[in-house]
Amino acid sequence: MPTQMTAEEIAAASARLAAASPQDVLRWAADRFHPRLLMATAFGAEGCCIIHMLAEINPAVRVINIDTGYQFPESLELRERIKDRYGIEVEYVRPEMSVAEYEKEHGGPLYNLFPDQCCLDRKIRPLQEAMARLDPLAWISAIRKDQTADRGQADVVQWDAKFDVVKVNPLLNWTKKDVWAFIVKHDVPYNPLHDRNYPSIGCWPCTRAVQPGEDDRAGRWAGKVKKECGLHVIEVKDGGGI
Ligand code: SF4
Repeated sequence: MPTQMTAEEIAAASARLAAASPQDVLRWAADRFHPRLLMATAFGAEGCCIIHMLAEINPAVRVINIDTGYQFPESLELRERIKDRYGIEVEYVRPEMSVAEYEKEHGGPLYNLFPDQCCLDRKIRPLQEAMARLDPLAWISAIRKDQTADRGQADVVQWDAKFDVVKVNPLLNWTKKDVWAFIVKHDVPYNPLHDRNYPSIGCWPCTRAVQPGEDDRAGRWAGKVKKECGLHVIEVKDGGGI
């Protein structure tokens, strides 16, 4: 069974893989960590590319989606299309309370006035619980450096202090153009909302289409300071594994 990496091993792997192709990074991660490797996807274009690559490298890698209860129907349908195309069944991770129960408890939805609380309750805590239950040593994310300032500081392999696991970012150095070239070349299933000016897709109450010239993430929590759900905010830049 795989064991956890030390801080020195993480730093060495990150340096070695800094310029590697996403497939090589994934191959390394699957060899090093499977079956204790997890991928989390919100069915964005980048995540679809990684699922396509995993289907070729190791389709047994566990893929999860945090189903907040507020996802677009198009995102849920994409899960079925991925299953049909690759035979990969993305597992839903859900909050304990349904949307109806949650909104009843709080006297209405929290996404407008308290989006941080809503993301904590419906995304971050369910993922923390899933991490504790599934006990991975590493997880794969689909972030790109050029998406946000925080993501710009990420490394290809890094320690994720939020979940106490290694985080592997195979698409870190890709651009949006790289992502779409890959999708077109391999006919990768993707969310049709991307064709309707939704470059970044989250929950429907917190995502709108962008206007020409707007930043790709301008449609996420539009009008609010919030730009991240918190999953990819780096808490400890150079912390180490156990
Ligand atoms: S993105 Fe919006 S609806 Fe989804 S969990 Fe966060 S605040 Fe709630």
